[in-house]
Amino acid sequence: MKLKAERKKTLQKYLAKEHLKSTKQRNIIFDEFFSYPGHHVTVKDLYESVRKYCPEIGYATIYRTLKLFKDCGLAFERNFGEGRTRYEPVKFEGEHHDHLICIGCGEITEFETQQIEYYSQEIAKLNDFDVTNYKLELYGYCSACRKNK
Ligand SMILES: [Zn+2]
Ligand SMILES: [Zn+2]
Repeated sequence: MKLKAERKKTLQKYLAKEHLKSTKQRNIIFDEFFSYPGHHVTVKDLYESVRKYCPEIGYATIYRTLKLFKDCGLAFERNFGEGRTRYEPVKFEGEHHDHLICIGCGEITEFETQQIEYYSQEIAKLNDFDVTNYKLELYGYCSACRKNK
């Protein structure tokens, strides 16, 4: 897969720049993270899934490796107010998407809209503000949760 090769390259470049070695454990975490079903994994999720076939990988290693993926632009770090950090792969360079978070079942839905970007720029202009990043999180109840109430 082309995307995977590109991600590997980005990682290798970053590791070289930071004088870090490419380790077997890091490669295992790489494969697991980028093929993990469903997005927005916590360190614990990934730890439990990696541990099944590679029990020598510690929690701290997973944590550090995910931070590393974030630092080299391969992963987003998300915080949906649950007191734990989630990570998700960046699909392509410059990608931006936002989230709807169900506080009933924890389901996370992604969305993208040009309008928000447009209005953000308008608000920034009005306030003579230079926006470098933004995030939007909508909290509430999904339709399944509303039905079960
Ligand atoms: Zn729900
Ligand atoms: Zn997402």
